[in-house]
Amino acid sequence: MPDTLTYNQFVDQPFQTTVREVAQLEGIGLHSGRFVRISICPAPANSGIKFRRIDVDGQLQTVVAHANYAEQARLCTRIVNSEGIRLETIEHLMAAFAGVGLDNATIEIDASEAPILDGSSQPVVEALNNAGIEVLPARRKYMIATKPVEAQLDCGAWARLDPAEHLQIDAKIEFDDRAIGHQSYCYTHHDGTFAAELAAARTFCQLRDVELMQNAGRALGGSLNNAVVVDDGKILNEGGLRIEREFVRHKVLDCLGDLFLVGIPIKAKMTVLRPGHALSAKLVQALLNDPTAYKVVEAGAQHSRSDSFAMPEYAAALMV
Ligand SMILES: [Zn+2]
Repeated sequence: MPDTLTYNQFVDQPFQTTVREVAQLEGIGLHSGRFVRISICPAPANSGIKFRRIDVDGQLQTVVAHANYAEQARLCTRIVNSEGIRLETIEHLMAAFAGVGLDNATIEIDASEAPILDGSSQPVVEALNNAGIEVLPARRKYMIATKPVEAQLDCGAWARLDPAEHLQIDAKIEFDDRAIGHQSYCYTHHDGTFAAELAAARTFCQLRDVELMQNAGRALGGSLNNAVVVDDGKILNEGGLRIEREFVRHKVLDCLGDLFLVGIPIKAKMTVLRPGHALSAKLVQALLNDPTAYKVVEAGAQHSRSDSFAMPEYAAALMV
């Protein structure tokens, strides 16, 4: 596990951030099986997370990581721009960005799917840590839940957002396979908690689903190098799990990434039974569709909007 003291000191401070230098990653796409490179580049305050598909025509490249541009997808999180240019499996990147407190970045990518890497967000957190995080002289805006919103799917999966002082995700999974079983995890988002509790948790599947997915042309890049695979009560990966309750921790990681599709950091408690991307997307949409369910608040705005008050705080934020 990483030394959490050196990671993630940008979650609880009030200013927006970007990367200090370009962070690069490469690997294969989980579903496409294609080799892909990404460069996480600095971006100005209030620009949010944007992807640029550098393998397509210049005018069409930008795909914004926001729920308004998300498409229905069961096995991953997919975004699409007005020209129909798609990008999928962005959830572990988005989780890492939310996890370390990265507000603004432009991610150049040369394929239609992000690399799966080791199936977790750990390589992304390490790349961001190596590139460094820059604190920008602009206050963060938070989306604050002001009343409960709910979403459910026909399969019995269910989720709710409630007002809360900090972002919390309380998740429960229920799988028939004894290797996974029933697990729950309650995560509170603060400096260091993502790196310590979630970042290393890998995606997972059941062996019988791998064949079904591959027959449908999905998970073509899937292997024991990028997923925990279970079969009839056994974990097939050499060395077993990385951390206890790795399965539910990964589902919490996915939820964190999907919640970041509101475009700015969120303060709410998410309670979720049988989490998944379709459910998260429905919940985020339910929130955004009800303007009485949230407000957008600038960090520190309840005290003062004056920059003369902000600057000592900004200087302090730069010291971390
Ligand atoms: Zn995932």
